[in-house]
Amino acid sequence: MIHFISDLHLSFDKPKITHHFTHYLQTQARQAKAVYILGDLFDAWVGDDDFTSPNGHIRRELKKLTDSGVEVYLQRGNRDFLISERFARGTGVTLLDDYAIIELEGEKTLLTHGDLLCSDDIAYQAFRSKSRTLEWQQNVLSKPLWQRLLFARWYRIRSFFHKQQKSHYVMDVNQMTVEKVMQQHGCTRLIHGHTHRPALHKFNLNGQKAQRFALSDWNNNGGEVLSFGAKNE
Ligand code: MN
Repeated sequence: MIHFISDLHLSFDKPKITHHFTHYLQTQARQAKAVYILGDLFDAWVGDDDFTSPNGHIRRELKKLTDSGVEVYLQRGNRDFLISERFARGTGVTLLDDYAIIELEGEKTLLTHGDLLCSDDIAYQAFRSKSRTLEWQQNVLSKPLWQRLLFARWYRIRSFFHKQQKSHYVMDVNQMTVEKVMQQHGCTRLIHGHTHRPALHKFNLNGQKAQRFALSDWNNNGGEVLSFGAKNE
């Protein structure tokens, strides 16, 4: 089985989600051959040197899973894009690029967090470009941890109010962008998170049947896992 999850948004103030995810890692995930986490595993990530709760615990649980032989792959989301090599080494997780192609049940499948597909949100895309530069990241990471944690709290509050102002339309993927990136990568299946609008969208891509799976976010009741393949695979 291959599992796909995203948008857990783990944080110190949502212990129930951490509890559900821990349970998942210790039970269901052990049955999988590979687990793909498609971004926003954490609600904020201020640097790999941050082991404040629940980060240290989550790292240990991920390490137990990879040690048991399950492959775990991670794409960074818009909230945890500062996850880096130290995290990967400590957990045994393999970091993937913003776009990754895998063969899934014989079909070329494109994986991405999903924020890049929301191309109508011009302001966000501008911030995204800026924050992915080495200069921006070095500047942020050079600040003391307590300052970064404080900034992250402020940023989360700001983001909450910004989201309320943005229209439903701007916050969703742009279908033209979806089709363009699928063609660029030669894929007929796309799996992503980010929008928190779980659905399977079927459409036509250059005369071929195409699918877009949007994963659900996790909440206090737990989370959905998209699974492919039979139990013993
Ligand atoms: Mn996101």
